[in-house]
Amino acid sequence: MSTTTLTEVKETSATRINEIFEIQKKHQYAVANTTAKQRIAKLKKFHKAILKYRPEIKEALYKDFRKHPSEVDLTEIYPITSEIKHIKSHLREWMDKQSVGTPLALMGSSSYVHHEPKGVVLIIAPWNFPINLTFAPLISAIAAGNTVMLKPSEMTLNASAVMQKIIDETFDSNEVALVQGGVETSKALLDLPFNHIFFTGSPQIGKIVMGAAAKNLTSVTLELGGKSPTIIDETANAEMAAKRTAWGKFVNNGQICIAPDYIFVHESKKEAFIKAVTKNLKEFYTEDAAKQESYSRIVNKKHFDRIAGLVEDAVERGAKIEFGGNTNSDENYIAPTILSNVPMDSKVMTEEIFGPILPIHSFNNLDEVINIINEREKPLALYIYSKSRKNTTHIMNNTRAGGSCINHSGVHFYNTNLPFGGSNNSGIGKGGGYYGFQAFSNARGVLKQNVPNALELLVPPYNDFKQKLIDLTIKWF
Ligand code: NAD
Repeated sequence: MSTTTLTEVKETSATRINEIFEIQKKHQYAVANTTAKQRIAKLKKFHKAILKYRPEIKEALYKDFRKHPSEVDLTEIYPITSEIKHIKSHLREWMDKQSVGTPLALMGSSSYVHHEPKGVVLIIAPWNFPINLTFAPLISAIAAGNTVMLKPSEMTLNASAVMQKIIDETFDSNEVALVQGGVETSKALLDLPFNHIFFTGSPQIGKIVMGAAAKNLTSVTLELGGKSPTIIDETANAEMAAKRTAWGKFVNNGQICIAPDYIFVHESKKEAFIKAVTKNLKEFYTEDAAKQESYSRIVNKKHFDRIAGLVEDAVERGAKIEFGGNTNSDENYIAPTILSNVPMDSKVMTEEIFGPILPIHSFNNLDEVINIINEREKPLALYIYSKSRKNTTHIMNNTRAGGSCINHSGVHFYNTNLPFGGSNNSGIGKGGGYYGFQAFSNARGVLKQNVPNALELLVPPYNDFKQKLIDLTIKWF
């Protein structure tokens, strides 16, 4: 294990990037023609390497933003190991030709869908769950039979260094290669005609990625962010909602794409909810979270200043700090903070928070809340706490979001059977489990003609008899 903390970003040269791309392009058919058994063997080897480096991964994330080792297990290691297990049980079935029906007009033929690899793919990852969000799409890409270039974030260099070791030890660079660097490296990668780009990051950079992809008509999966609301209605159990919200919001220091960004709680439950979130925060992190090892830090000074600025702006505009509010810039520490009376035009309500600040609003009319949410960009997640089926259905039917939990926050991410991703501003396409496999595959529709087909009677030159047959086809088939 290393005792040094990495701080200097090293860009990878465009020459090296092009070299790897060309090698992978040549090797792609060898990788594509691997069987399910061979791909599973690769994933098992990868799984083993992740477990071997688990202590180093924990050490790296502690250096990057003082993330607690148990939280690393829960939010970085487990999602990857469970993804590998899920794929191991299903890959054969996903790779099989999927027979589909054939209409009567095409009698004499059979049809199937064949999932073929897209080819040479690029994965660009963010820093907030650096291991999980680099390796989870990699697992899908390998399962689908692609060669892969990975670019982790330049903000969590210690995590990147461990990932580099894992990838170099586990794969040949002609099938999987990790390149480190920041914007320059990203730009050099985005110049290349990849067959698919899987990008996880902010909507702003997502637009740059999609623009670059458009030049080569490269398909994209964009896993983006935004402001995910929570609605707690008058029938909800406020204590349960508070505990689950406190967990979903403050794990990873709130640096979570699907964190409950802001809360709408029914006026009748507001006081109980704030009291219960406060109680939970004290239980999770004590009165002084700065001294509690379970509470991580903001990733860097730039984000510290941004988040501290959100609180200052809200307070200047009349918001009340219900809990927390302390900061320490030497450590990039921001206490778990609850705000109330927050003006809707304050920065904390217009920008993605991505930190440990929880603005709470109360409401009396559910439709007003739905209108406010719908006036904004579509969120990555929307959480509902309610015992009323009527209210839950009403919210589900009249809002849009990438995903949702009913009576929980964030845990839909852990279900490998569910698609994960956003909609429009919060993302395009889905990842995870079968949806991840699909993202990295082209669904090739194949029709096999077995015996002559009735349509062959309808070739030119057309005449009255053929027209009658065409009329019958349109009417009956
Ligand atoms: P970011 O968009 O700043 O960076 C993501 C990646 O893009 C990094 O690897 C970075 O090097 C690269 N990049 C930065 N500038 C670039 C440029 N000009 N051209 C090309 N590439 C560039 O995001 P971040 O700060 O690392 O992560 C936070 C954001 O990611 C938040 O908005 C969060 O909601 C979102 N996010 C989404 C998900 C999801 O699954 N939907 C998961 C985690 C984070």
